[in-house]
Amino acid sequence: MTDGGKVYLAGAGPGDPDLLTVKALRLLACADVVLHDDLVPPRILALANPLAEIVNVGKRCSAKGPAQSEINSRMIASARAGNSVVRLKGGDPGVFGRLAEEIDALESAGIAWEIVPGITAGLAAAAALGTSLTDRRKSARVVIITNHHAAGSEAPTERDWKALAREDATLLIYMPGHDFGTLRAQLLAAGLPAEIPAAVVSRAASPDQSVECATLGELNALARVSAPSIVLVGWALDAAVRRALASQSTALLAEADLILSSR
Ligand code: SAH
Repeated sequence: MTDGGKVYLAGAGPGDPDLLTVKALRLLACADVVLHDDLVPPRILALANPLAEIVNVGKRCSAKGPAQSEINSRMIASARAGNSVVRLKGGDPGVFGRLAEEIDALESAGIAWEIVPGITAGLAAAAALGTSLTDRRKSARVVIITNHHAAGSEAPTERDWKALAREDATLLIYMPGHDFGTLRAQLLAAGLPAEIPAAVVSRAASPDQSVECATLGELNALARVSAPSIVLVGWALDAAVRRALASQSTALLAEADLILSSR
């Protein structure tokens, strides 16, 4: 236990323990309490102090999990008891992670806190794809958005896609859902061309990572991927998407050859 107690709002990265920051690893190793989200895999939790109290406070999908107020109370009570508390979130804690609400609660309670950044899923997805998100020849901005609004959130339900989906932007769409048809239609209606490259990266930086590539026009044809997944759209992906499509067709040809030669 540390004197006074403190809450570390820490990012666990996208899934691979090697992508934890040294700081997050060090804090986990000497934490008294770890409050983690569903996105944090067991192989990262295994790195925590074996004596730590480890609690899943995740509320993924529709499964009933603790309310945000309960999570806040738990963080505050644990820190007040003098513990070093690691509030561990997937990726970076500040990207679609309710970080601001938790900071507000800690501030109101007078609890010491610190943010420990992590590698967000969009960056892990770009690495999986093998691309720069800010290729200066093709992209002037990176737009980080979600296709999902939590119940009760004040975010507008009618999104101004035209302002976001510009040809000079690389779009990172978190929580894309499974209805890629609607997403595709919204982006096309916003004025993006059907030929603009798109990719879906599922479980980035995990052993079962998958990368599916297409153009925006074909986005709805991409196989249903397993969660968590992220959709990327933009000309900055062009070379990477072409490489991926070329290797997919080589693999298909090899498979067809195999079938023919076994006849
Ligand atoms: N704070 C997290 C994001 C939380 S929102 C971060 O910075 O990454 C949850 C969404 O993040 C998921 O629905 C998915 O869109 C995305 N995500 C998280 N981990 C992912 C992973 N390993 N691969 C692909 N997408 C991921």
